Amino acid sequence: MIFSKHGIGGCDNSCCLKIHGLSVNLEGDEILHDVNLHMHCGQITALIGPNGAGKSTLIKAILGQRVYSGSIYFSTFSGRHEKPRIGYVPQSPTFDKGDPVSVLDLFVCCISRRPAFLPVSAALRQKVLECLSRVHGEALIDKRIGDLSGGEVQRVLLALALEPIPHILILDEPLSGVDVEGMEQVMAMLDEIRRNFDLSILITTHDFSMLEQYVDDVVLIKGTVLKDGAPKDVLTSPEFHAVFHLGGAAQ
Ligand code: ADP
Ligand code: MG
Repeated sequence: MIFSKHGIGGCDNSCCLKIHGLSVNLEGDEILHDVNLHMHCGQITALIGPNGAGKSTLIKAILGQRVYSGSIYFSTFSGRHEKPRIGYVPQSPTFDKGDPVSVLDLFVCCISRRPAFLPVSAALRQKVLECLSRVHGEALIDKRIGDLSGGEVQRVLLALALEPIPHILILDEPLSGVDVEGMEQVMAMLDEIRRNFDLSILITTHDFSMLEQYVDDVVLIKGTVLKDGAPKDVLTSPEFHAVFHLGGAAQ
């Protein structure tokens, strides 16, 4: 990734992530080619596409976990940061139901790097409560991870990804396995987080019902970007209908 203190390609926003001509090959197969993408702080971008389209691969390239050609630029207006902090919530992590680890233990290991078996100071417990309050999850602090519902696990992982507050927050399929009410809650929370912290949020999703209400930009990919724009424009485009085999394009 290339880091810049100045706007790139005419971007005047406070910060932005710009991907240019990105390609990823895995085991001799070209998974992504010539991907171009521009995300701004304060905005939610949804990456959509069928299974195998390369959504998770693109996320891994942004995270630096996949070798790619092309460029990924991050720029900040203030120039205070040399590289972006990226918060990441992975796709459907599973936890052992019998695992005795609590939400507090998980946070202590992740944010203080102390072994979970050592006593937790009042100050550290307060810090964890503050982290959980960002997702309205204070009540989860003493629950065992294995006892949490899918939606609660998402919330805890989101709180972890927000400590410290990142420049870019990436969630891979945060709505999968969540009921309609849960989806509404996740999207409303992301909306609140982007307003409170002015960060750039990238999600992948197969659920299109929330896009018009919550998302600024939808990027349809299948190996490359097929369509990029406002939710309504992408969801009614011939490209969207062709990719999802929906027959003729909507008007
Ligand atoms: P999506 O997230 O859109 O469902 P992925 O990015 O997971 O798609 O996968 C895109 C393509 O890359 C798929 O064809 C998948 O089989 C392939 N792929 C993913 N990971 C690997 C890997 N580690 N090695 C080889 N091929 C992979
Ligand atoms: Mg995926």
